[in-house]
Amino acid sequence: MVKKTTRVNHPPSVQIPEGNRPVVAPIYQTVKFEFETVDDTLRTLSGEKPGFFYQRSSNPTTRALELTLAELQGRDDCLVCASGVGAIAQTLLALTKQGDHVLCFLESYGPTRYLIRRTLARFGVSHSMLSIADLDGIARTLAAQPTRLVIFESPTNPINRIADIAAITRLARAHGALTLLDNTFAGMHQHGQYPVDYYLHSLTKFASGHGDVMGGAVIAQAALIGALRPDFSNLGGVLDPHAAFLIQRGLKTYFARYRLQSANAQRIAECLSGHPAVERTHYPGLAAHPGHALAREQMSDFGAVVSFDLRAGAQCARRFAEALQLFAMTASLGATDSLVMPPQLLGSRDLSEQQQRQSGIAAGTVRLSIGLEDADDLIEDLQQALAAAQLP
Ligand SMILES: *Cc1c(COP(=O)(O)O)cnc(C)c1O
Repeated sequence: MVKKTTRVNHPPSVQIPEGNRPVVAPIYQTVKFEFETVDDTLRTLSGEKPGFFYQRSSNPTTRALELTLAELQGRDDCLVCASGVGAIAQTLLALTKQGDHVLCFLESYGPTRYLIRRTLARFGVSHSMLSIADLDGIARTLAAQPTRLVIFESPTNPINRIADIAAITRLARAHGALTLLDNTFAGMHQHGQYPVDYYLHSLTKFASGHGDVMGGAVIAQAALIGALRPDFSNLGGVLDPHAAFLIQRGLKTYFARYRLQSANAQRIAECLSGHPAVERTHYPGLAAHPGHALAREQMSDFGAVVSFDLRAGAQCARRFAEALQLFAMTASLGATDSLVMPPQLLGSRDLSEQQQRQSGIAAGTVRLSIGLEDADDLIEDLQQALAAAQLP
């Protein structure tokens, strides 16, 4: 028998008998994995033998999540990160070098624009920024200069523009550029049929689904993920196994949530688009939406984000957002509870006035993320808030 001070550091290990597996996989809350021999350690480190060594490189709980996400997106490998922005930052750093050119879009997520325009610029990576609707501009830009990668989103934030994924991937391939699609709005089950090289996701949104855990992922074929692995391991923004466990648990209800939230969003978009105070409703499931036909071709579910322009502008939008009872005024989207962002919080101050106009965000644009509440309750709340904002 060892002494008690030794025992607490070497607790008894409980072996689960053959044929007696836990129904829910345990959380491997361990940073290190040990080996019996130096040779085994070296063979595992070189990749010759499968196994785990150090959590920053991999861990069975995070690995199970990676394999689930890859399959959902229709690719064969994945790396998860501590946040969506972490996944985007590490992917951009891993794929670019001094002298490269990146094509990005003014409709993209603010921190993505920051990473390209500020961070990559410091390392001598140049960029062009167009509107996602400007296919001629994309063709011209790719023809005019060698481009390392094209990074885009669909539907875009906040007004749900729909990128022509087939056209963009065709143009990029023709000019030898890699494509990165931030697929957070569409979710892990959509857009896998296109020849996109890398899919990026904020797992903070629909994957975890409950607004209580952050994570990010990049999904691609194995060789493309292999190209990222050394930089990811050394940049170090790893997902904690406990967070991976919570996200894996969230995924069990992912389809039920995404589809019900989409159905609620469709009803709310239809209701808003008939309201006299609303000038325009931006939801790809509406026949009047300019991207509707393309969205129907590309997507099976149109998502939980509904935005709309109030005729009366910013002050009314402020009163409207403050009058809502069931919608929390905050960032983020894709959770089970409904959220609102008034125009004062949607600003993209890093864009020029012309770019802001091109972005389609108007003075009275409001973004909603629709949750799992009863759609009638949500509609009633929206109607009372429209009335309270003293709109016609
Ligand atoms: C939220 C979001 C991100 C960033 O994800 P975090 O997990 O918050 O870091 C990236 N892209 C899009 C489209 C998002 O909505």
